[in-house]
Amino acid sequence: MDDHKENIHSADGNVNVSNGDDDNKLKPGSTICPKEKEDAPRASNSDFSHAVYKEISLANGQINRMSKEELRLKLSQLKLDTRGVKDVMKKRLKSHYKKQKLTSSAAAAGDAGQADAYYDYICVVDFEATCEEDNPPDFVHEIIEFPMVLINTRTLEIAGTFQEYVKPELCSKLSDFCVQLTGITQETVNAAQPFPLVLKQAVKWLEEKELGTRYKYTFLTDGAWDMSKFLNIQCRLSQIRYPQFARRWINIRKAYRNFYKVPHIQIKLSTMLAKLGLQYEGRPHSGLDDSRNIARVALRMLRDGCRLRVNEHLHAGQLLPAPAWAAEEGAPPPRWPGNRR
Ligand code: AMP
Ligand code: MG
Repeated sequence: MDDHKENIHSADGNVNVSNGDDDNKLKPGSTICPKEKEDAPRASNSDFSHAVYKEISLANGQINRMSKEELRLKLSQLKLDTRGVKDVMKKRLKSHYKKQKLTSSAAAAGDAGQADAYYDYICVVDFEATCEEDNPPDFVHEIIEFPMVLINTRTLEIAGTFQEYVKPELCSKLSDFCVQLTGITQETVNAAQPFPLVLKQAVKWLEEKELGTRYKYTFLTDGAWDMSKFLNIQCRLSQIRYPQFARRWINIRKAYRNFYKVPHIQIKLSTMLAKLGLQYEGRPHSGLDDSRNIARVALRMLRDGCRLRVNEHLHAGQLLPAPAWAAEEGAPPPRWPGNRR
């Protein structure tokens, strides 16, 4: 089922049909995001000739030579999660040692580290939209569910959830296929508000959490299409500007592939969960349940030592890799974007 999401055709022309691999969702000619160097140790005031990097590199070499059983045993001795495939376990152990060595080295140097530069919150969004079986090339998707799950990156807990259904205005009748796929009924969307009003509620919810004002935050999606396609198309249909605060986001598939060094295969939510040794919880294609499960993957990555960073953005209607300088910059305060003129 997930495969289809990657093959939705856009009438909008911004996003091209993909073969399912996330990087291929970029427009032809756009540059691929430089690989995130998650393996590279980070320290605020050190260069890589410091002895600590040699130690980390030696530890990494040893971990690379360990069997799956040895990895499992070591993780269990360290009271770390032992679930997941070999590559996931390796990465978890490497991150553990890296963090340990850098922390002690920073403590010895009196360096407090960079914790404060990181996002306080990550907001997972997974839109559901109108669809048909095999979505014809000219099919115009309208958002029918707007869910958000907020992750506190310090406590590694879910700090809140938001869910509103949306009344489609262009084509108000859901296809049987769409009802079956998403579990969202005609009655539910009939009783819902149109997108601009739901977006206003979403902005209010984000504002109440003091995101972008008191706390640094960014968005996270499973693939690039939630923002670059569903939200982009919906804003045009609703005659509103594209919201500034949703211009940059973390594409978790890209981050996951780079962090765990997963071979260049199709990555989707079910694959990410399975490789981590986790099962999907809830109903697939319910926007809120999808968001919760994406958040579980993100939490697992944060616990494994990944500093999830913005890696994609929308510029002049085009999906592009995020520039390096924007990687850790938080999203601006949420604001109603205003009507298109
Ligand atoms: P997802 O987040 O995977 O639930 O997908 C988001 C949206 O993509 C859905 O609400 C549908 O509009 C569309 N979609 C997902 N899977 C399919 C599929 N198998 N066939 C057609 N459209 C799909
Ligand atoms: Mg979904």
